[in-house]
Amino acid sequence: MMMETMDFSQQQHLMISLEKEGPEKRVKQTFPLRFGRYSEIRTRDFEFCFNLNGEIKSIRGLKPDWPHPAEQFKRTVGNDWVYYTVGDKSGYDGVVSWMGEYYLPCLPYPSNPVWEIKYFSNPVVMGALAEWSQLFANLHMARSKGMYPHARGLMERILAHDDQRLYERSQALNRIIGARVSVLPPDTRHADYDVIPLTISDGCLYHCKFCCVKSDQKFQKRSKENIQEQITGLKHHFGADLVNCHALFLGNHDALAAGEDLICFSAEEAYRAFGFRPRMDQKPFLYLFGSVGSFLRSGPALFERLNQLPFYTYINIGFESVDPGTLSLIGKPVTSQEVQEAFEKMIGINAAFDRIEVTGNFIVGDHLSPDHDNSLARLLTHSDAKTKGVIYLSPLKDNPKKRELLPRFYAIKKESCLPVLVYLIQRL
Ligand code: SF4
Repeated sequence: MMMETMDFSQQQHLMISLEKEGPEKRVKQTFPLRFGRYSEIRTRDFEFCFNLNGEIKSIRGLKPDWPHPAEQFKRTVGNDWVYYTVGDKSGYDGVVSWMGEYYLPCLPYPSNPVWEIKYFSNPVVMGALAEWSQLFANLHMARSKGMYPHARGLMERILAHDDQRLYERSQALNRIIGARVSVLPPDTRHADYDVIPLTISDGCLYHCKFCCVKSDQKFQKRSKENIQEQITGLKHHFGADLVNCHALFLGNHDALAAGEDLICFSAEEAYRAFGFRPRMDQKPFLYLFGSVGSFLRSGPALFERLNQLPFYTYINIGFESVDPGTLSLIGKPVTSQEVQEAFEKMIGINAAFDRIEVTGNFIVGDHLSPDHDNSLARLLTHSDAKTKGVIYLSPLKDNPKKRELLPRFYAIKKESCLPVLVYLIQRL
């Protein structure tokens, strides 16, 4: 690690670390750990981290008036600035009890939160983004004055990625894969939502009335040529920072319906091209969504093959409800018997395969009938889960009383044989 300091005429004292190295393996911590290789610049009041392409990744306040030392802004590859809060209650009845993580991502766009934190009305927090502009201007000046020659390469990389360029890169990513990823599987929390997206199919089998993320397209697989082209484009796009990537998301809303051949082809090709590898004892993560229909149709050969891949695979299934009335209310064209059957299959797959974890989503909301809550409680109470798997409860987007859902969530969690967490709808 190289570190030097410099002074500017504007009295901004910078500590520049050209390359730092955090732990390779992702572990969950109360304090934001930096994984892999990155660069860091500290001013008196803020810490800025950059990826190996020189793109800004995170900003954290260092002054005592910053809300909490573990809180920070993180910029996603989709160019969203997400504020990570620890919430207003720490410990095991705080954020971690319903997110499974030590922080809550506060999204700068409408979603389905159970807990809204108005971070944007805190001038100290918003000052971080102003400080980023100031830092950018100062680096510009430093370069023109020939200051700090050892950091010249880093400064060039950062200065080549101003806000306009960062926005353009997010658009370029969408062009490579065909469309923005409108929702990530909840399991991507294990990779802090940092995934390389690869679209293997578009659209989904159903067009559920309640769904806020669906596209108008009918389900259609991509060709292998198209997938190869995406992989080439993605490799170029992520560039030097590929060495830090540890997770692949096969899109879009129902990649499981693309079938064994295309899923395994895509995963294997991506593994090779992106240079994925195990980090200590942690395999790279593979994420995909499945529907009740595609999951029920998936035969043993698919799971056998997935289990042989050099990934740990998460398949997330949208169950939504096991109550017939609720399924028809939300316009989901599956029967409660099919949901029940798929739920049992999930438990069976999780017990049988050590490298596959199937998780499932159910909706929660104020306007849903008691039959929904009661049937869900019965399903979760009597399930026979022995190994892994998680149930995610997804608050309906138009739910007016957000935080009131938490007691209901805790009641379901208490009775469930499987871990239960909240699903925050997050885009890439
Ligand atoms: S809930 Fe899932 S299956 Fe239904 S429309 Fe939305 S993305 Fe498609």
